Amino acid sequence: MSTGVARTLVGVPAAPGLVVGAIVQLRHDPIEIPEDHDSPNAERLRLECALEQARTELRSLQERLAQTADATRAAIFAAHEALLGDPDLLATCATAIDRGGSAAFAWHLAIETQAKRLANLDDKLLAARASDVRDVGRRVLRAIVGTKGAERHYAPGTILVAEDLTPSETAGLDRSTVVGFCTAGGGATSHVAILARSLDIPAVAAIDPAALDVPDGTPAVLDGNEGVLRLVPSPEELASVAERLARGERRRAAERAVAHQPASTVDGHSIAVVGNIGSLADAEQVLALGGEGVGLLRTEFLFLDRDQAPSEDEQADVYTAIAARLGPGRPLIIRTLDAGGDKALPFLHLPKEHNPSLGERGIRAQLARPTLLRAQLRAIVRAARHGQVMVMFPMITGLAQWRVARQALERERLQLGSPPVPVGVLVEVPATALNAERFATEVDFFSLGTNDLAQYTLATDRDHPQLASQVDELDPAVLQLVATTVKAARGHGKWVSVCGGMAADPQAIPLLIGLGVGGLSVSAPAIPGVKACVRRWRLTDAEVLVTRALTAGSAEEVRALVAAADA
Ligand code: PEP
Ligand code: MG
Repeated sequence: MSTGVARTLVGVPAAPGLVVGAIVQLRHDPIEIPEDHDSPNAERLRLECALEQARTELRSLQERLAQTADATRAAIFAAHEALLGDPDLLATCATAIDRGGSAAFAWHLAIETQAKRLANLDDKLLAARASDVRDVGRRVLRAIVGTKGAERHYAPGTILVAEDLTPSETAGLDRSTVVGFCTAGGGATSHVAILARSLDIPAVAAIDPAALDVPDGTPAVLDGNEGVLRLVPSPEELASVAERLARGERRRAAERAVAHQPASTVDGHSIAVVGNIGSLADAEQVLALGGEGVGLLRTEFLFLDRDQAPSEDEQADVYTAIAARLGPGRPLIIRTLDAGGDKALPFLHLPKEHNPSLGERGIRAQLARPTLLRAQLRAIVRAARHGQVMVMFPMITGLAQWRVARQALERERLQLGSPPVPVGVLVEVPATALNAERFATEVDFFSLGTNDLAQYTLATDRDHPQLASQVDELDPAVLQLVATTVKAARGHGKWVSVCGGMAADPQAIPLLIGLGVGGLSVSAPAIPGVKACVRRWRLTDAEVLVTRALTAGSAEEVRALVAAADA
């Protein structure tokens, strides 16, 4: 491909944002594996020294990240450190060295065997761990052969293209020069995508492999919202992107300036705007951007990549730190572990399932592991002494299951001698929405998990590379389930909010207001924009609009109705 050919390469959105820059291909320098070797004892010692050096490097990386309260990134390097003691890896090395191989040869063999095994797994999350294994592998190999990891410096405005980025490469990217990246591998659930979002670097995964042949220096526009890379944009396109960026920045600055004011409709109806978080750092960001509390703490994100379940004390520390940071006047809804489905937690050892989204996930996985549930509930109850904490159970499907979960919480609370903790259900299964009237007499609050509610209502995998774009939460069938839940909640005087992606969709917001939802819980960066959107609508208009939307024939029709009302 020549530098001069305009072309659009398509991938999967991994982290949002639009940037203009120049392509730089990231190629890993090959590390030479020496042919000669010493006695097995000397090679064993060489390997041990290299493992120790890697351990020291990884600990200092974790300490640096812990200082910035970046738990997700620190956890990735803690997992890398754990890999250094992996019995399978070490056993393969020991055998290879006993047979006369060098430390470098033995380590390389062990790493490649394990990485290939992981890469061939059907489970997307486990397959993504192959890149963690290779990342650790290169670190140790460099220590064995005595080369330093090449410090890479890029010109400002670099859009990196790589077969795959390792987590340490991603975490180490210099935001002042690298404006975005795309990888041929990976997906929206890979570590690299999670890191890119936490670093606020626009990224595209699973890009057309032709991107790997694009020459360095090729001008490009990377669109992390759409998941595309546009090569050699025309001057007109560049001008239009620059104009869009400037307009977007002006709008965001204006929204941020009033983000700390409450969100009320034109006719004075208040809507609580709170944040969805996965770490203490996210909670800080929610507060900085005007969030009035936390409507969803995804606890599974605190414990990714661990081989051991987190202890009660460790969980209590994390939840308490977040509750204390929010303070007594701001709610913190802690969702119990929602593992399974697309979110594998290695320490749960979940069975391989044909249909993981319909399998042992959310509350089902935890009810089957009472010790784990107990530890988490105790940790939450302990944290509740330090803030306005509430508990929410994910994937609740029926009343019997809800009662078992609620009783488990009550048992731990009584044992700890703590005051009551409000407890609610995350409505993400159509059966629960349809039964909301029955739930309403027992729950303290409802939160609508519309990401899953839409996936289950429309029977379409929300992560499917080809079908996911058809999961539209504005489908009238989904709206009807939201309406049923809100009606039941309000009829019984119970709080109801929305924490799925729908809460941040500007076209969904008037419909949710019109239905009578009390709160919207969204990712921190979306908070100022959501508040601005609420302020543009009148409750009475939103109520009329939603009546019409509920009888529309498709999501497209609903979107057209909203667009017409917004014109
Ligand atoms: C949802 O399903 O809408 C939700 C909030 O949960 P998650 O996206 O974590 O599955
Ligand atoms: Mg969900």
